[in-house]
Amino acid sequence: MAIKNKKAKQKKARDKRKKVRNISLPILQFDDLKPVVCRPATMDDLALVPAIMSTLLKAKDGVGIAAPQVGHNIRMFIIHVQTIYPLVCFNPSFTDLSKGMVSGIEGCLSYPGLQKNISRHQIVSMVYRDEAWQERRITLEGTAARVAQHEMDHLGGLCMVYNGKRKGGG
Ligand SMILES: [Zn+2]
Repeated sequence: MAIKNKKAKQKKARDKRKKVRNISLPILQFDDLKPVVCRPATMDDLALVPAIMSTLLKAKDGVGIAAPQVGHNIRMFIIHVQTIYPLVCFNPSFTDLSKGMVSGIEGCLSYPGLQKNISRHQIVSMVYRDEAWQERRITLEGTAARVAQHEMDHLGGLCMVYNGKRKGGG
C-alpha cells in the first residue's frame, strides 16, 4: 500500500512536471530580444505567471527571467535563486541601492553561452506586487540582488550585452 501510494505520488509529480513543461514559452534569443521599454503590468497580467514560471523552472541554470524575454513587454520578472524563491515581481522598482558594488559573472537565458563580468550593487531594496497583487517590500543581497538588477535591466530594454558597453559596466 505504501509503495503504491508512493508510486501514485510519483506519477502525480511526473504529471505535474509534464504540465509545467507543456505551458512553457520559447525564450527569445539574441537579436529576437528587442530593446523595448516595458509598460507597467496590470492585474490582467497575473494570468501570465504559470507560463513564465514554468519557462524559468525548465530553463537550465535559470535563476531569473523577465517577461520581455518571452515576448510580453510588461514590467514583471521572476527570481529563483534560493529556497524561499521563486519570487514573482510585478512592477518592481528599487527603493534603495547600496553604495557597495561587487563584480561577478553573469549569463542570460537570451544569450546562451555568453558570460560577462558586471559590477552590481551588493544590496538592493525593492517594492513590487506579488502573484496575488499584494504590495511587498524586500531587501536582497548577493546573488539575489544581482539577479534582480539583471532582470530590472531587461524591463528597461537593457541587457548585459549592452551593459558591458555602458559606462561603469552596471
Ligand atoms: Zn537576461
